[in-house]
Amino acid sequence: MTSFSYAANPVRVVFGSLDSLGEEADRLGIGRVLLIGRPRHGDRAAQVLGARLVARFEDAAMHTPVDVTERALKVVAEHGVDGVVAVGGGSATGLAKAIALHTDLPQLVVPTTYAGSELTAVLGQTADGRKTTQKTPKVRPETVLYDVDLTLGLPVPVSAASGLNALAHAVEARYAPDANPMTDLLAAESIKLLMRALPRIAADPSDVDARSDAQRGAWLAGLCLDAVQMGLHHHLCHHLGGKFGLPHAETHAVLLPYVMAHQGLDDAADVFELAASLPIPHSLAELGLTEADLDGEPEADLLRQALTGARPA
Ligand code: NAD
Repeated sequence: MTSFSYAANPVRVVFGSLDSLGEEADRLGIGRVLLIGRPRHGDRAAQVLGARLVARFEDAAMHTPVDVTERALKVVAEHGVDGVVAVGGGSATGLAKAIALHTDLPQLVVPTTYAGSELTAVLGQTADGRKTTQKTPKVRPETVLYDVDLTLGLPVPVSAASGLNALAHAVEARYAPDANPMTDLLAAESIKLLMRALPRIAADPSDVDARSDAQRGAWLAGLCLDAVQMGLHHHLCHHLGGKFGLPHAETHAVLLPYVMAHQGLDDAADVFELAASLPIPHSLAELGLTEADLDGEPEADLLRQALTGARPA
């Protein structure tokens, strides 16, 4: 008998329309909402929220800088906010989670990329150029509302990098020490959906079926990330991202095939070919790193291959 444990985490997930945002806010019992999000989708969200909306915040930034969170917390206090709605990518979600860490306010998240942060109890924050990551159920959003229409305008390079970031969440569940039959299922389905969807999105970014597949794949990948310990891939991405200020999704996209080959995963070559076909950076050099930057780094062999973008050995 194989021993394992698995806990299903209490997140309400809705695949539908932004039009139901007000109903979802009501279901959470929130009537004084802080809306995080840029005007692109935030304006429509504000309309749907109507009188429930008491404040807006548009300055969410990559890697959740604590000074931005402090500004947002002032807005929360000034307006007597009783719930947070975030509409956007992982940056908007990260700010909602950071607010929840300090206030325990309920969160309703509407993701517009494939980052998957909306499903996890993980929060990465930056202060003084250092990123620290913690895991606590306090930051896991209560409700996630996916509306595929919001992703149709996500530019192909952002979609591709974000999609590979999602793929990395699922892949890591395959070699995690606490993987279990449920995460195996989630990872397999997620990888199938994402591998199929990304080339179709690159060919036609308005392909609703491909976008739906990618969104479902990102959901399942987020569940994987939440359910298992982060391993080599995430440790390398977080370390390099923090040390050299690298962009989050692109760093995942560049490193993924190399980590997969290093871990002996037989579909590493497929992921390398997929990434090579997409309009994203393909090497750490393209992200601005040099040979000298890698001196003394862990896993230097793996990183040297990724530096040039050569086919993983
Ligand atoms: P992001 O949220 O910064 O979005 C990338 C860019 O795309 C931004 O300029 C944004 O305005 C734009 N954008 C977003 N949605 C769009 C849309 N539908 N149409 C057009 N433009 C759109 O980046 P991301 O990759 O989604 O998230 C990265 C952040 O998420 C990082 O801070 C990372 O640490 C965090 N993250 C956290 C977890 C977790 O579990 N804690 C998981 C994954 C990512």
